[in-house]
Amino acid sequence: MNKWMEEQYEALGISREVYEFGEKIEDSLKERFAAIDATAEYNQLKVIKAMQDNRVSAECFNMSSGYGYNDLGRDTLEKVYASCFKGEDALVRPQITCGTHALALALMSNLRPGDELLSPVGKPYDTLEEVIGIRPSKGSLAEYGVSYRQVDLLPDGSFDFEHIKEAINERTKLVTIQRSKGYATRPTLSVARIGELISYIKGIKPDVICMVDNCYGEFVEEQEPLEVGADMIVGSLIKNPGGGLAPIGGYIVGKKECVENAAYRLTSPGLGKEVGASLGVIQSFYQGFFLAPTVVSGALKGAIFAANIYEKLGFEVVPNGSESRHDIIQAVAFHNPDALIAFCEGIQAAAPVDSYVTPEPWAMPGYDSDVIMAAGAFVQGSSIELSADGPIKPPYAVYFQGGLTWYHAKLGILKSLQKLKERKLVDLDLL
Ligand SMILES: *Cc1c(COP(=O)(O)O)cnc(C)c1O
Repeated sequence: MNKWMEEQYEALGISREVYEFGEKIEDSLKERFAAIDATAEYNQLKVIKAMQDNRVSAECFNMSSGYGYNDLGRDTLEKVYASCFKGEDALVRPQITCGTHALALALMSNLRPGDELLSPVGKPYDTLEEVIGIRPSKGSLAEYGVSYRQVDLLPDGSFDFEHIKEAINERTKLVTIQRSKGYATRPTLSVARIGELISYIKGIKPDVICMVDNCYGEFVEEQEPLEVGADMIVGSLIKNPGGGLAPIGGYIVGKKECVENAAYRLTSPGLGKEVGASLGVIQSFYQGFFLAPTVVSGALKGAIFAANIYEKLGFEVVPNGSESRHDIIQAVAFHNPDALIAFCEGIQAAAPVDSYVTPEPWAMPGYDSDVIMAAGAFVQGSSIELSADGPIKPPYAVYFQGGLTWYHAKLGILKSLQKLKERKLVDLDLL
């Protein structure tokens, strides 16, 4: 053991026992971490190639204001996203306020009254229920006469091809496929599985638009969904592709027509992509995108480290310690509210910002139980930064993600374990 390192951990409140347990787990993960590093290396090269091919220059970092006509930085960044993710065109804007907004924009601009939307992978992310109108909501797709159908995954997580075929009809215009499990318990879809699903659907109806909600998935694998037949991918810049530096934003990349429709909806018919000042944030979009492959690799290592630590201690972890990864989210079901709270306190205590704050469960709007959240982020709500949250109800599961660096993620997880140990919720001596 490295004495010098151990002392530094001790200065942050990590006991020798917890540190050594962590080292043992980390040692067992060498091969997996090497594979993650190789993916990051590949994706780093992909980003640099896209930046070079599109002649990113110092002028791209100039600020535009007002209408933002001829904003070289904005237009070039959109080309970089399109090249890197293999789309014909892209919309990458600070005016897209979050992931939900980006998804709503993609849906509302590409669907027309009388069209039908299909989700062949079960219930979409919570906030989309109101966008679609599954839960009645002002301005939903349902209010505009767009209907919705859903086919759930089979109990073993596979696609229900038979019912998907039955659900596709003459009105089916757009299919939405969520890559990440989000905060549900289904498995996350690999890019390869998304490809299989898309080719099946296009085999039945070739002109249907296949959109992938790519949130939390960018740069986890070498390929992105446009490379396996998706028409449009959509995501948030305060998750993976913003690399922790973008302070706001969302993207849509894909077929020219799909992106064009979104642009006319974001600004105005007739204006489209031509307007939209970048107000000085564009440099952080470039730098964040440049760093994103490494940042995502750190978050992935953190997720796998947490899975292995808590699995070893006998808790239920999803995904489990050895499964392949297709997004950066890790769930741990504690079946004990005190353990859930202790975990979140540890994450908070490891943060560079607001580390002295104690997170407490509270009644958040839209939830049917109290929720505890831990985050000490540079960008409010950024979930590419180390963060954890969980509803205070059985199975008392925490959803944990992010970490701008692997070392911070590691500290957060060790700190969570330290809290559990101090409250006698785990016993490291038994191992
Ligand atoms: C985070 C997320 C969203 C919504 O993004 P927000 O930025 O929180 O609005 C949608 N879908 C998935 C799968 C997500 O992970």
